[in-house]
Amino acid sequence: MIECLEEYQPLQQGVRKMVEEVVKPRAREIEESDEFPYDMANRFFQEGYLQVLIPKELGGHLGDITSFCILAEEVAKVSASLSLLIVVQSVGTLPILMVTNETQRRELCSQIVHNRLIMAFCLTEPLAGSDVASLQMTATKQNNRYLLNGKKSFVTNGGVADRYVVFAKTDPSRGRRGISAFLVEKDLQGLTCSPKDDKIGMRGIPSCMVTFRDVSVPTDHLLGQEGEGFKIAMETLNRSRPAIGAQALGIAESAMEVATLFAMRRRQFGKPIAKLEGMQFMLAEMATLIESAKALVYKAAYHLDHGLPHATKYSAMCKYFASDVAMKITTDAVQILGGYGCLRSSNLERTMRDAKITQIYEGTNQVQRFVVAEQLIKEFLEKYGMGKDWSDFL
Ligand SMILES: Cc1cc2nc3c(=O)[nH]c(=O)nc-3n(C[C@H](O)[C@H](O)[C@H](O)COP(=O)(O)OP(=O)(O)OC[C@H]3O[C@@H](n4cnc5c(N)ncnc54)[C@H](O)[C@@H]3O)c2cc1C
Repeated sequence: MIECLEEYQPLQQGVRKMVEEVVKPRAREIEESDEFPYDMANRFFQEGYLQVLIPKELGGHLGDITSFCILAEEVAKVSASLSLLIVVQSVGTLPILMVTNETQRRELCSQIVHNRLIMAFCLTEPLAGSDVASLQMTATKQNNRYLLNGKKSFVTNGGVADRYVVFAKTDPSRGRRGISAFLVEKDLQGLTCSPKDDKIGMRGIPSCMVTFRDVSVPTDHLLGQEGEGFKIAMETLNRSRPAIGAQALGIAESAMEVATLFAMRRRQFGKPIAKLEGMQFMLAEMATLIESAKALVYKAAYHLDHGLPHATKYSAMCKYFASDVAMKITTDAVQILGGYGCLRSSNLERTMRDAKITQIYEGTNQVQRFVVAEQLIKEFLEKYGMGKDWSDFL
């Protein structure tokens, strides 16, 4: 589908060239050192990648989800970690774009772009993962400030971010309707970051626990209205999940390329293994799954960009489908390479570890299936109401 969208081809070609020349030579080093790549972050700001969703008139770059997905996919072909850097920056920026007024938006976007601010998004807590509504962090209003108390886990960019979007309960008695969102500066007293998590994948982009002890933020750092936090978090994730799908797609495409090339060169039983039926079935399955995931990712992006119905459903579908595809394809690619796939130098084991994470973050794939099913029920009820009996369809 994306191949048909001519207007995006210059972007795609440009990113491919940049990735080849700039990202590729650094990818392995970032993976091995597990150090945050400030040089890449600066270069990505220069290219407009870390402000891709900020509209041009606010100093940003392209402003649409399709472009965001193209960036995530192309960069992930070489480095899933650097693709994550692009994704999480937009996840931390989206709440600002969605709910601030014109003046605030102009001011905050200008700060992100001109001061090259790194963003983070703090939703998950040690006792509240998939069940977001059960989060325990509190924001207590005192005069013209809020005091934030609690812990956030797995905060990507934790320790390197300049601004944290934080979700906390302003009214714990109201469940999800008591959650509010705040923009928090990194240097505030009481905000501390634990040592970074030693993750299986996405090395180089840190995640860690962030603790808030009486962190005092001014009331104008509330994003949107009190009680709108849950909605802001869900709408943010709706818009960013296609980029996780695109990231997974990039990982899968790179693994498939290595496997195909290997299968064409490796000879056993007197011929290239690519000519053996068992291998051909695997390659065919890989290619078909990639095309299906691509269609779904860019369909979701298209629906979000054009305000079309069912965007939430497609967004959840493409996230879980593409990341499951990435997990399968990277594992099969290792299989195709046989013993060579087990060598770290093949790079395929890295793609497997990175793919695993795409099945978990931004809402696990079990939760995405749950979202899809809920949307299906909603659509059905809108179409038929409760008056329909199953026997009417027979
Ligand atoms: C590398 C990485 C980076 C991350 N970055 C961030 C970040 O920047 N900001 C942030 O806020 N969070 C971040 N996260 C957290 C991530 O979003 C959560 O890990 C994820 O939402 C799952 O929450 P959990 O780990 O607490 O698992 P749990 O919710 O405890 O789930 C455990 C298992 O139970 C299953 N499960 C839970 N509920 C259901 C259900 N209703 N039906 C069926 N199965 C269910 C899950 O699918 C999972 O398999 C990151 C995580 C990772 C691994």
